[in-house]
Amino acid sequence: MLKKIFLFMLAAVLILAAFVLFNTFRFTPPQPDAAALPAPELTPQSIEHFQRAIGFKTISYADPSLFDSARFLAFRSFLETTYPGMHTALSREIVEGYSLLYKWEGKNPELEPVVLMAHQDVVPIEEATRSMWTVDPFAGTIKDGFIWGRGTTDDKINLIAICEAVEKLLQHDFRPERTVYLAFGHDEEIGGKGAIAMARLLKERNIAAAFVLDEGGIVSASQVPGLAKPVALLGTAEKGYLSLKLTVTVPGGHSSMPQKETAIDILAAALHRLRSQPFAPEISEPMEGFMQSTGPYMGFAERMAFANRWLFEKPILNQFAKTNTGDAMIRTTMVPTIIEAGIKDNVVPTIATAVVNLRLLPGHTAQQAMEGVKQRINDNRVAIAPLSTISEASPVTPVSGFGYRKIAAAIQRSYPQVIASPFLVIGATDSRHFTGISSNIIKFSPMIDPIGFHGIDERVSLESYKTALWFYEQLLSDLK
Ligand SMILES: [Zn+2]
Repeated sequence: MLKKIFLFMLAAVLILAAFVLFNTFRFTPPQPDAAALPAPELTPQSIEHFQRAIGFKTISYADPSLFDSARFLAFRSFLETTYPGMHTALSREIVEGYSLLYKWEGKNPELEPVVLMAHQDVVPIEEATRSMWTVDPFAGTIKDGFIWGRGTTDDKINLIAICEAVEKLLQHDFRPERTVYLAFGHDEEIGGKGAIAMARLLKERNIAAAFVLDEGGIVSASQVPGLAKPVALLGTAEKGYLSLKLTVTVPGGHSSMPQKETAIDILAAALHRLRSQPFAPEISEPMEGFMQSTGPYMGFAERMAFANRWLFEKPILNQFAKTNTGDAMIRTTMVPTIIEAGIKDNVVPTIATAVVNLRLLPGHTAQQAMEGVKQRINDNRVAIAPLSTISEASPVTPVSGFGYRKIAAAIQRSYPQVIASPFLVIGATDSRHFTGISSNIIKFSPMIDPIGFHGIDERVSLESYKTALWFYEQLLSDLK
């Protein structure tokens, strides 16, 4: 009897192993890579234009009184003089004072238009880090094959590469098949009022876009563990944003005779309960697509796991959870960012507050997350309320849609040996305001392994800039 059971179990294990291996070996690249066309060399003018664009201190400050309109007006006239063809052939509207909305009329008015986005503003240089920069952050220095400076990667490379591609195509009397809108916001880093207004304007005109392309993912040459090939990460969704304020109010008193439990104690315990009970991990649709697209190019172990996700979901999630970035891809995160209590060293405060910032996975609503927080804290003395405007996670752009297919095809034509893959964008972009305009929103910046995003020594390679121009040219040339 025992032998029979053993034989049966052995057979079951062998069948399972055979099935897993069958799935693994069947998990191969979908089609041979289309050969990319080599990008033309950069002209000295193209390089100079990018350098000069970095020189404009179009900075978005958290404090709106620091906004310097003259910088934005100067940048606008720089665009006008640098791209005369574009400013003749395309119509332009100024929205919200400084955002720029261009319209390039297509040949076929029956076709839905597309929207290419970029933002003019950059984040400030933290005063404490100014001396740590290798170069002047606003000089547009070229050094070691890179262009250096604030805004090189975020987001002037996109804005300038789009203008360069449009200007070049116009010189060849090119006109796109469908209408192209260029939407250049001016305050992406502080909420995106410009993008909101541009989206509203298009909506009022009943414009539905075939796709919207904005910053987000990048081309990663070697940053994806286990993947030997470079991959273009096309953001098909972005996480939502929710900040909650926790407030505890209990009578305080003199610190010489403290009560058993103070407002600070209650708040600290609540925060501890939150941090020690993170939300459950899960594989969202963009990450499912990521495994589907990159899996066939991975080493054997990863390929086997990604090909058999029904069996290996747990180890896959554990692997992601090992790094902070990986962990943010698989769950709604929460972290305290501000904590306030007390005014004097010998007074027990009556009020203690904390702000907890959450980033919501697609499919998790702010309401669900708030309930999850309440449940974990499980203490009625802690009042929980949203701090500011809630931004739900974006809808997921279908990989089978027109936008994804066109952009992936343009990548294939402009980057040698690069595979395109869906991806989840952890941060927030202006394109989240365009969900009413299109259900095909792709978040992707055509640059290869940029460095110093929002930080010190921000820079992007000239090779990246060259292929970015080429990518936009390829994309604009094929919008049928
Ligand atoms: Zn940006």
